[in-house]
Amino acid sequence: MGDAKVRRSDGTKVRPMSHARARLLAYKTCDGDVTFDELKALSRHLQGCPACRKEAGEIAEFVGMMRRVSRRRRARGGHCNPPPPPRMLPPR
Ligand SMILES: [Zn+2]
Repeated sequence: MGDAKVRRSDGTKVRPMSHARARLLAYKTCDGDVTFDELKALSRHLQGCPACRKEAGEIAEFVGMMRRVSRRRRARGGHCNPPPPPRMLPPR
């Protein structure tokens, strides 16, 4: 009791990725916020999982739509502010 360690060393197949994680990654991919390894694992999952493939397509569509809307809104609002130059750190 109280032992929080979970081990799965008894020959159980380690699933490469859960559906939830695949969908989360699909979302992150749209943001360009994934590593190459994550992308590889995701595409491997999508190859064998039509459900997540469909989901990922819908996510991509949704994110693309959101981007278009926010871009339009920004354009309509006049000028957008560029991010500050990355030299805000004081010299040591
Ligand atoms: Zn899946």
